[in-house]
Amino acid sequence: MKVLKFGGTSVGSSKNINNVIGILENYAKKNKVVCVVSAVGGITDKLLVAGKQAQNKDTAYIDTFNLIKDIHFNIVNELNLEKSSPIIAFIDEKLNELKSLLDGIFLINELSPKTSDKLVSFGELLSSYIIAETMKNRGLSAESKNSQELMVTNSNFTKAEVDYAITNKNLQAYFNTASQQITILPGFISKSKIEEQTTLGRGGSDFTAAIVAAALKVEQLEIWTDVSGMFTTNPKLVKQAYPIEKISYQEAMELSHFGAKVLYPPTVQPVLDLNIPIHIKNTLEPEAAGTIISNEETISTSPVKGISNIGNIALLTLQGSGMIGIPGFSKRLFETLSQEKINVILITQASSEHSICLGIDENDAEVAKSAIDATFDNEIALHKIDPIIVEKDLSIIALVGDNMKNHQGISGKMFSTLGKNNINIRAIAQGASEKNISAVILQSDVKKALNTLHEQFFESKTKQLNVFITGVGNVGEKLVEQIKQQRKYLKENLKINLRVAGLSNSRKMVFSEEGIDLTHWKEQLENGEQATLDGFFENTKALNLRNSIFVDVTANKYVAGLYEKYLRQSIGVVACNKIACSSDYGNYKLLKRLSLKYNAPYLFETNVGAGLPIIDTLNNLIASGDKITSIHAVLSGSLNFVFNNFNDSTKFYDVVKQAAAEGYTEPDPRIDLSGVDVARKILILARESGVEMNLEDIENTPFLSDSGMKSDSVDDFYQTLIKDEAHYQGLYASAKANHCQLKYVAQFNDGKASVGLQEIPNDHPFYNLKGKDNIVMFYTQRYPEQPMIIKGAGAGADVTASGLFADIIRVGND
Ligand code: ADP
Ligand code: ASP
Ligand code: MG
Repeated sequence: MKVLKFGGTSVGSSKNINNVIGILENYAKKNKVVCVVSAVGGITDKLLVAGKQAQNKDTAYIDTFNLIKDIHFNIVNELNLEKSSPIIAFIDEKLNELKSLLDGIFLINELSPKTSDKLVSFGELLSSYIIAETMKNRGLSAESKNSQELMVTNSNFTKAEVDYAITNKNLQAYFNTASQQITILPGFISKSKIEEQTTLGRGGSDFTAAIVAAALKVEQLEIWTDVSGMFTTNPKLVKQAYPIEKISYQEAMELSHFGAKVLYPPTVQPVLDLNIPIHIKNTLEPEAAGTIISNEETISTSPVKGISNIGNIALLTLQGSGMIGIPGFSKRLFETLSQEKINVILITQASSEHSICLGIDENDAEVAKSAIDATFDNEIALHKIDPIIVEKDLSIIALVGDNMKNHQGISGKMFSTLGKNNINIRAIAQGASEKNISAVILQSDVKKALNTLHEQFFESKTKQLNVFITGVGNVGEKLVEQIKQQRKYLKENLKINLRVAGLSNSRKMVFSEEGIDLTHWKEQLENGEQATLDGFFENTKALNLRNSIFVDVTANKYVAGLYEKYLRQSIGVVACNKIACSSDYGNYKLLKRLSLKYNAPYLFETNVGAGLPIIDTLNNLIASGDKITSIHAVLSGSLNFVFNNFNDSTKFYDVVKQAAAEGYTEPDPRIDLSGVDVARKILILARESGVEMNLEDIENTPFLSDSGMKSDSVDDFYQTLIKDEAHYQGLYASAKANHCQLKYVAQFNDGKASVGLQEIPNDHPFYNLKGKDNIVMFYTQRYPEQPMIIKGAGAGADVTASGLFADIIRVGND
């Protein structure tokens, strides 16, 4: 004898029912088969909706009824049963009964738990009948048997308790004599001893199957559902979740109690003592191995077997100084809840005994509050304790594993992982068996928490990074292209799964939780929603993805003004925009502090020398205990380009124009030529060396002509370059006469910084600096005479993009 159970999706369409019949037919060749079925997928919910509508005098219940009817008749038609009039007549009769019941509820305005059970029973009665008749129609030896005639319970409607003695006897008596090869039983439904219709609780078809399996002492119970087993965590919320091959009864029970819906929690009880394994299989993918639940010892690499969660939790806190050391508070609290039949899902008590925290179903919160406040009204009036505090919109997440107790530090890892991702923990409970560690968190953080914990405990080798890029001009576009090209390499070699989850230019923005398809990102962006800086932030925040990084590829001060908001959400910031780092010292420090506090990296390597590893090197020197004494540098690719191309046979104006055309200058070339850009860069290096400094503290000797300095527009400025050609030729002539090259140099010495044009002699390392190259010389305690030199291309879209990319990977390697 075999016992199989098929869930709602498995019997949710004619196609799936055909799959089920195929599976049963195959099994029935060798064994007698008992098949427990759920209602057609979604029907139980719809029946309850119709009931509620009727109860509320909402005539929409008729539409809902018609929908239920259509769903069943569609299936019946597709299974070619419509030609058989007795079958149609039976289904019609059942649906008429259902309609009358709903009309009755509408009339009397009442839906009691008893009526509710009667109402939902139609789901399983119809599905089991349709499947059995289809099989008979195809010549198979099949019968449906109403399990209400077999399963006997008490009258605890909507979640009745089974009377095993009678039920087992009924089941054994029936199956001892049943002659058909295949018996279809409706799951979930039952009757009380006085013939009232009852149910075993939502999801209870699993339980029906387990009761049958135990009564008939079969070798194995198979639960066929819409996923390939019990997964490491809910596969609908975590894409990377995978099926657990083998799991113990205790672990499966614990996971299902904490929300793994794939198994109804009481299902394990009946089979546990008899040691009947449960095999979870996928109707939609029958060849997949599935999960075996048994008492066999399992060896697994991770002590954590699975992670589950229950939503709709309310946290009740009872607190007050009057509780300390006085016995009986907890007893009265739990008695009150038990009288109200409220199930307590989680309990924690602070060691001070000053407060007790309870997690319950949110729907019970109001009843619980008034009952508890009534129990303690005396103490509340005397201010010995406070009225109970209720917090809602919470969820419990639980790590489960038999072996967790033998491993140190799992809870530490769990909480630090959550903390790093800015997930606030409201309460923690660890079962005495240490098979379960649970935490109460905000409902809105659940997806992020499950994904982060799953990554930590089951995919320790891959880290997912979610980047949100704003600014897809020259550099931004290159960055997206580089990411596209390198994604595979990063995954295979660095175990970094890099996804672009948001993109924006000044007009449009687009987001995708799964990652934007980078082959068509331009079209997607064009079709995106209208961009605003705040909108980009709000969307990024709302997606609430782990390891989120905001990448600023603009030169916009308003974008820079938002870093604070991002960091406060634990969203990292990678920027080539220099404005924030060179803004007021207080703001720079604040951003650094927030980065530490919220565990969100703030990286800006490309602020100085584009892709050259200048800031990273400086940070490494300092982190390893070195001290910077001075910095000499040529930090402007644009100025270098200008002075490398300017001589007595070229015109200053033409050279500057060319630099602008090739993208080596800021859109406003005055920012480069006035030295402001270089001053910002040396300021950032000085600050990163540990010195408190502002832009005004930097000595800036301009080389531009007076009229150039005073020009009030870019056009105006270009005109001065033509007019003042003699001034610039004078600078060149002087350098030439001294056998020197003109270089725009930044210096940091003894806590002071300066920038200015200098004549560099031919024995100086700056003399031969070509094109748009940058050079930085760090003199430190460890490099007192021969400086550490970093030299290379210091401007250009490609190298800047690769510098940004390197910062993103740095976050990944964190
Ligand atoms: P059925 O109708 O077959 O009884 P359910 O919807 O009751 O199916 O249970 C299967 C669903 O359980 C899956 O589709 C999945 O969304 C959910 N689920 C939650 N946690 C887990 C988990 N850890 N493993 C597998 N499925 C899970
Ligand atoms: N049909 C019932 C429900 O949806 C029982 C089940 O599917 O297990 O809750
Ligand atoms: Mg189920």
